[in-house]
Amino acid sequence: MKKIQMVDLKSQYEGIKDTVNASIQEVLDNTAYINGPEVHKFQKNLEEYLDVKHVIPCANGTDALQIAMMGLDLKPGDEVITVDFTFAATVEVIALLQLTPVLVDIDPDTFNVSVEAIRNAITPKTKAIVPVHLFGQVADMEEIMALATEHNLYVIEDNAQGIGATYTFADGTKKKAGTMGHVSSTSFFPSKNLGCYGDGGAIFTNDDDLAHKLRGIVNHGMYKRYHHDVVGVNSRLDSIQAAVLNAKLPLLDQYNNARREAAHKYSAAFAGHADIITPLIKGTPDSHVFHQYTLRVLNADRDALMQHLQDKGIPCAIYYPIPLHSQKAYADIRYNEEDFVVTNELTKQVLSLPMHTELEDEQIAFITDTILDFLSV
Ligand SMILES: *Cc1c(COP(=O)(O)O)cnc(C)c1O
Repeated sequence: MKKIQMVDLKSQYEGIKDTVNASIQEVLDNTAYINGPEVHKFQKNLEEYLDVKHVIPCANGTDALQIAMMGLDLKPGDEVITVDFTFAATVEVIALLQLTPVLVDIDPDTFNVSVEAIRNAITPKTKAIVPVHLFGQVADMEEIMALATEHNLYVIEDNAQGIGATYTFADGTKKKAGTMGHVSSTSFFPSKNLGCYGDGGAIFTNDDDLAHKLRGIVNHGMYKRYHHDVVGVNSRLDSIQAAVLNAKLPLLDQYNNARREAAHKYSAAFAGHADIITPLIKGTPDSHVFHQYTLRVLNADRDALMQHLQDKGIPCAIYYPIPLHSQKAYADIRYNEEDFVVTNELTKQVLSLPMHTELEDEQIAFITDTILDFLSV
């Protein structure tokens, strides 16, 4: 059996080596390393794939989120509601822009933001909501957009984990994750569902004026060369990374299907087990792209299970071990532990198994058997 990896980028690369290498070689030949034709081509390719009017490539997913927020007219002290259970980048950029992060609890079945918790957290100072499509499952966008419209709030989708997922509205309309809010961000970090070979990110919006503003912000606030109209940043997607992404984007649906299939095999093996809750797909099957496959382990020592798996050569991880409200940087005297019942519980139960596009049946069987054996003693 091939060695099990949490994310197997090497095997994936072997399957696409010729196209990726040729794509990179073009950049080496044309030497347009910054803002070269590959970047423009990727922008167009992604706009088409997502069916969104504007993609603004940038340096990474954290920048994308920060720049998206810089483009909205938010002022220091404005409250931005987001989830307690996500990667820290989400709350980090809110704090960095001197906005006030308001963390809320999640839905235990989907690991995504609880719409009820958002509703309860809205105050006259609330200006925006940042849902995260955690582990690849689209958050409850229909309800979130309705709530945002009712209270006149911006919605910024953190789509770092959900690229390629599709949300189906009650009327049957389908939209890609990252195209429903006012503005969205994504990351092309190598292990993400659409990963490049270094850092990369992008912002999406259907709003022409906002897109114009964002294109200036990523480029030192310049709209005309050496005229700096707003305070901006320097955040670019390298041409070489765009070349990698141009080679990989046509495979994104296939890759996401491979992830879904692996998830389905894991869940089938654990079906009905009293000590394991497998991930729930709340919407249609295409609403989840399994950036992570995350179990909840009940009535058993999760950390001992993790150690046991690692001893058997099975990598696994805890996403995320500490709720954000308990992190030193984001503690706030306004928070009460009773408001974070779900995240407090889940951080003790979650265990993410190897998830990537190259998982083999033999590997999946070894992983599930090892877990089931551990739980049966
Ligand atoms: C990965 C990730 C980010 C940050 O992306 P980078 O490209 O690493 O900066 C932000 N939010 C979430 C939810 C992520 O998973």
